[in-house]
Amino acid sequence: MNERIRVEKSILSENDKLASAARRQFLDRSVVVLNLVSSPGAGKTSLLEKTLQALRTEIRIGLIAGDVQTENDAERLLKAGGESVWPLVTGGACHLDARMVNTVLDGVDLGKLDLLFIENVGNLVCPSSFDLGELMKVVLISTAEGDDKPLKYPAMFRRSGLMVVNKTDLLGMSDFSMQRVIDNARSINPDLEVIATSCRTGAGLEVWFAWLKRLLSPVEL
Ligand code: MG
Repeated sequence: MNERIRVEKSILSENDKLASAARRQFLDRSVVVLNLVSSPGAGKTSLLEKTLQALRTEIRIGLIAGDVQTENDAERLLKAGGESVWPLVTGGACHLDARMVNTVLDGVDLGKLDLLFIENVGNLVCPSSFDLGELMKVVLISTAEGDDKPLKYPAMFRRSGLMVVNKTDLLGMSDFSMQRVIDNARSINPDLEVIATSCRTGAGLEVWFAWLKRLLSPVEL
């Protein structure tokens, strides 16, 4: 085996061990954890701001705000009413890994949370390989991007359970096609759920909130 592949494999298996331990902790404490991934600028922080504003009185929401530099997103989330916000600055790394998330979790009382969002670094490549112990990856794409992105970055769309198509208020301003992005994404992952939103106008946000509440409600047997 080539040395580089060997090293990468061992980094990933170490990550997977830590992620599995984190997942067990989340399950034990009944915390639903979502790993939000997208290109830079698709609207992850905006969606979280709207979610906090709408749901923070009924759902105990925690947020880990990952970024390469600055705590700007964490500050925005605090301003939006977030009471449990932890910045996680990677200092250059293009993704979060389970070890970094663990350093934050050490100071978190999971018993006080129902839902934990991990806002990953804006990047459609690196974060796809690193399990953080989440229940599900949620991938955002904005209508200001190419509708062929699912074909260009298939791993991310294959490993996500939900695609949020954001900035629908800009539809018609470019050649982006809602039907094409859905067809492209489902050609990679036929089970991918899709929700269309505009954080600016509020369109579709109720559908996102209802989706979250369904995820949080106990499974009916
Ligand atoms: Mg952000």
